[in-house]
Amino acid sequence: LALLGPAPGAPCCPHGPALLFVKTSQGKEEGRRFYACSACRDRKDCNFFQWEDEKVSETRLAAREEYNRSHQPSFTHRQNVDRYKNFVLLPSSKRRFCQECQQLLLPAEWEKHSDHQFLCDITTAQLKSPSQLLYPLENKKTNAQYLFADRSCQFLLNLLTDLGFRRVLSVGTPRLHEMIQSKASQEEQFGVRSLLLDIDFRYSQFYTEDEFCHYNMFNHHFFGGEAACETCRKFLCEENGERVIMVTDPPFGGLVEALASSFKKLMAMWSETEKGGHDNKEMPMFWIFPYFFESRILDFFPSFSMMDYQVDYDNHALYKHGKTGRRQSPVRIFTNLTPSMIVLPEEEGYRFCTVCQRYVSSGNQHCEICNSCTSKDGRRWKHCVLCKKCVKPSWFHCNNCNCCTLQKHSCEKTGVGCFVCGKAGHKRSACPSLS
Ligand code: SAH
Ligand code: ZN
Ligand code: ZN
Ligand code: ZN
Ligand code: ZN
Repeated sequence: LALLGPAPGAPCCPHGPALLFVKTSQGKEEGRRFYACSACRDRKDCNFFQWEDEKVSETRLAAREEYNRSHQPSFTHRQNVDRYKNFVLLPSSKRRFCQECQQLLLPAEWEKHSDHQFLCDITTAQLKSPSQLLYPLENKKTNAQYLFADRSCQFLLNLLTDLGFRRVLSVGTPRLHEMIQSKASQEEQFGVRSLLLDIDFRYSQFYTEDEFCHYNMFNHHFFGGEAACETCRKFLCEENGERVIMVTDPPFGGLVEALASSFKKLMAMWSETEKGGHDNKEMPMFWIFPYFFESRILDFFPSFSMMDYQVDYDNHALYKHGKTGRRQSPVRIFTNLTPSMIVLPEEEGYRFCTVCQRYVSSGNQHCEICNSCTSKDGRRWKHCVLCKKCVKPSWFHCNNCNCCTLQKHSCEKTGVGCFVCGKAGHKRSACPSLS
């Protein structure tokens, strides 16, 4: 399956314009092109499908529009903002949150939710950390909501404030947004502002239109239309010299090209703001993503480099530090800032390599032959003279495949490179990076 990208005039599903795909085999297009939902890779979540050359009848178009309308959230963002204003005026004994509907309830609505589970006595502190109140949408193929561990979130925030940024465009990073918002409300001299762009509309209950935009990062769709888009554009104008950085932590389910295309549009929005005077510079960005997507990200953003810092999560069994021994997270920061400026915590074992001019993991040894610190996963890698590069410690050189790989593998050639790591010899499903 290959993505042909956002196409002009694409039909819409409830998640905005659909993306154009085609089936491929051996790197060649095969069969009819079709449109499918940009946000949901699971048909159960959104089953939108249309052949590119399909004639859609007026009746079906009308039915589709009706369907899209009926699948929008029951309250608008504006209504949610008003509801919030009323909610905070309530005494704590009357502040309820319905866990089934994931919704703040006003007293008049209690009746309707009487057989639902709810939380009561919602505190101001809880309202300020919605990512703790809402349950994470862990559905792998759609939301994949994995929340930063406090330590990683704190690290990111310190890093970007130390770098002098005062505005953060938080794209799919509700927890970072929340940390910034609550700090800003507690410490007067903390002058950092954040705008959250996320597809999770539940957040509209807690933030105004200037703090949150309902946004789809796979097709650059603002659900709030031109007004929301304008809010974002305004935020990117660096008034009073307040420098802006974009931080994003997208679901890992693939579609790197769709993400890259949206991020380029956000970058273009920044470049087009008049006050910048950016002369061909790129909007600074942290793209948080697993290290095995490095080559894919660099294909789209050659100016980016990958940092060794391991980003940890709260609700991801694999990507958090275990109680016993340290589980290595594969998630990294990709950035277009100069690597030497990204200072990683020495107390967590990172050190500065003077040759590479960047901070690296403690296990990442400088290879004299490659002349760089080559480990991607934090373990010490070994140099293979035949491959002329460093490889994972668990890999061996296979003379059949003419490259290093896991000892247990089948030597079939697929011709085209793997979708994940770009290397020949295996398909995405058998990629050793994912094991
Ligand atoms: N680590 C981050 C959360 C990352 S999880 C934090 O702690 O702040 C991925 C986030 O992207 C979730 O908030 C999810 O709601 C959002 N998301 C998923 N699909 C999206 C899409 N199509 N468009 C915009 N945001 C999306
Ligand atoms: Zn309810
Ligand atoms: Zn080497
Ligand atoms: Zn080798
Ligand atoms: Zn691979």
